Formats: sequence, structure tokens, C-alpha cells
Amino acid sequence: MAPPCLFLDRDGVVNVEIGYLHKIPEVQWMPGITSLIRTARAHGMKVAIVTNQAGIARGMYTEDQFHELMVWMRAELDREQADVDAVYYCAHHPVHGVGEYKRECDERKPGPGMLLKGERELGIDLATSILVGDRCSDLAAGHAAGIEKVFLIRGTEEAGCGEPHTAIESLAEVERWIAERYQKV
Ligand SMILES: [Mg+2]
Repeated sequence: MAPPCLFLDRDGVVNVEIGYLHKIPEVQWMPGITSLIRTARAHGMKVAIVTNQAGIARGMYTEDQFHELMVWMRAELDREQADVDAVYYCAHHPVHGVGEYKRECDERKPGPGMLLKGERELGIDLATSILVGDRCSDLAAGHAAGIEKVFLIRGTEEAGCGEPHTAIESLAEVERWIAERYQKV
């Protein structure tokens, strides 16, 4: 049976949302992120980060800078036995993109493209996968891809979201949910 995946938005879920993060010294990890990833892995889940990177589209930083930051972040997570299987990103923006980066893209959340890519590349089962985000567009992407269980960390979206979801205060709540529902491997 194909394993489920824990899909994590990056900014506001893996690291604290500061707006267009692209420098290593500015990374502040979200409390509980390494423990959550370790628990997901211990319960047989794959783990993937799915992140809109409009900062690349807007010309605020380059794809190379993004990759450099992700190499560093993944190495830091590895050191805590919290490695991720894949990082998917969308560098396009339909309105504010500069040059080749200005275009509609179904990988940009709320589109499901990055999650569907994860399904193809990681061999996971979307129906039993879960997603953690801090914006309504994260939840919408999850639902569009057929993921039923989506969590919204309170804070970023002050008005809340219309999409059905489970609102949480901390990543520890997701960790508990996983430990209760998935078999340890
Ligand atoms: Mg976010």
C-alpha cells in the first residue's frame, strides 16, 4: 500500500513567517517542527515541503538563493533526524512576476500541482495524506489534490478560512493526531 505523506507549507509552518525569507541568519524554526517530522517518519509517512516562492517571481531573490537556503535547512533538519523526502516550490506569480516568472501556474497554491507532483514522484497515497499550512491557499491546494485532512496554524489568516479544516495552535497537535491514527513502523 502506498504510504501517506505529511505535506508541510514552509513559511509559517517549518519556519516562522517573516515575509520573503531568503537568508540563512533569518531562519527561525517553528517550535516542534523537528519532533513532528520525526514522528511522521516513525509512523511510515513520507514528508514533503510545498512552498509558493513569489519572492523569486518578484525578483527579490534568485532560484539559486532559494536552493542554497533549502540545502542548509534540509541539512539542519537531517542533523535532528528530521529529514524531508522532497521540497517542491513554485517560482511563478500571475500578476507580480517579472519576465519569465509572470504566468499562471497550477503548481502555485491554491493549485494542486505540487501535491500531485509529490504523488507521482514519492509514490504516496493522497487520500490518507495530510497537509499543514498557515494560509487558506494551503488548505485549498490540499483539497484540490484530494487530501481530506488539512490543518491550519492559527495566526497568519486573521479572518480564518472558508475551506473545511482543523485549526491548531501548535504543531504538537498534528504530531499527536499522527501518533493516534497511523501505525508505528
Ligand atoms: Mg505559509
